[in-house]
Amino acid sequence: MKAEIIAVGTELLLGQIVNTNAQYLSQGLAELGIDVYFQTVVGDNSHRLRHAIETARGRADLLIFTGGLGPTQDDLTKDVLAADLGLGLYIHGPSMEKIAHVFSSRGLHMVESNKKQALMIEGSDPLDNTAGLAVGNALKVAETAYVLLPGPPREMKPMFDGPVKEWLRKLLGDEKPLYSRLLKFAGIGESTLEDKLLDLIEAQTDPTIAPYAKEGEVAIRVSTKAASLTEANVRIDATVSAIQARVGDHLYAEENIPLEEAVVRLLRAGQQKLASAESCSGGLFSELITNVPGSSGEYIGGVVTYTNQMKHVMLGIPMSQLEGEDAPGAISESTAALMAERIREMTNSDYGVSLTGVAGPAESEGKPVGLVYFAIAQRGKATIVHTTHLSGNRSMIRLRAVKAVLYRLWQAIREQEHLQQS
Ligand code: ATP
Ligand code: MG
Repeated sequence: MKAEIIAVGTELLLGQIVNTNAQYLSQGLAELGIDVYFQTVVGDNSHRLRHAIETARGRADLLIFTGGLGPTQDDLTKDVLAADLGLGLYIHGPSMEKIAHVFSSRGLHMVESNKKQALMIEGSDPLDNTAGLAVGNALKVAETAYVLLPGPPREMKPMFDGPVKEWLRKLLGDEKPLYSRLLKFAGIGESTLEDKLLDLIEAQTDPTIAPYAKEGEVAIRVSTKAASLTEANVRIDATVSAIQARVGDHLYAEENIPLEEAVVRLLRAGQQKLASAESCSGGLFSELITNVPGSSGEYIGGVVTYTNQMKHVMLGIPMSQLEGEDAPGAISESTAALMAERIREMTNSDYGVSLTGVAGPAESEGKPVGLVYFAIAQRGKATIVHTTHLSGNRSMIRLRAVKAVLYRLWQAIREQEHLQQS
């Protein structure tokens, strides 16, 4: 099945908002095994919208619209599509009741135009809006299917993930559904990963292996069309094993979780505690770890010791280590090691991590932008220190540095566990 996404809204054409809906829908459709060949953006203009519908119908079997389901004059997606198909519009009873109820419960007066949000095209199925008032529509006319979604992402997303996916699965009918598993990697770049798996990627058509990268992390989606989940799992497991044999050291999860969550889960499993002392990353390590719900069970806390004075006062690092002609300086392997060790001791944690380096844009202590030292101190074991040369702007260097620490920490905890098990 070929789909076209039609985002309706003059704001999009003016560059006032970014078409994030198209991105979200494209990803979701790919997961369902539906090919998106075109993404269209059209303004709130009935002529041009109609033109876009006719063009799309000539090259796609499924047209997904977002935007223009609201109450105002410029919201015209339902009207235009209904006119184009020669179908009427009617007020959907349950949606109308819901709208009336919302207005009365807030003590607000409902104006006539609000009824527009309850409109349905004749013959369409209603798509419940759990986060807003406009009801979505889905219908099939002749060989073409149409899905109408609201513009606000917070309404569009749950509608797509819930009723639309269900509707599309039925529409796909006999076509075997697509099952997929997301593999998440760290400590390896997208191109290196692809290179190591190139023959697998090229040779395999089923399951398919599709790599993609997000800032600081790389993922691969392994997908197959199968009659059942069990059948799909057999095939996906085999492919995952082949991938694991080559890059298993970097594969931290077989589901869509960030690296910090994998770290927290490992700590939780081993009932271990973590603390951090940061310099160049300015608290980003803490930020990511505490984004993981429930991480207070594992993460004791951290300090941001940005200046030498703070490194000395908070962590007790001697000024002679930090300043002076022959001193190693704040940005050095030995300072990274001391920071990690001190914070671990002070908090009586199992792991203490630290970062110190140059996030840029200017060099510091005569050291180049992107040079970051980090350390992992472990109870009863030698401290591990790493030196990295990272590229990118200030925020990218900070994020990449923190992800590098998380990756090495993940490795260290895993190794420790293997030792205990063997
Ligand atoms: P409303 O009831 O809010 O009027 P609507 O379904 O009529 O919803 P629009 O009027 O087209 O949708 O857009 C409303 C808001 O939704 C926009 O101001 C914008 O913030 C967001 N939005 C619309 N289209 C998109 C899109 N393609 N990507 C991201 N955000 C969007
Ligand atoms: Mg609107």
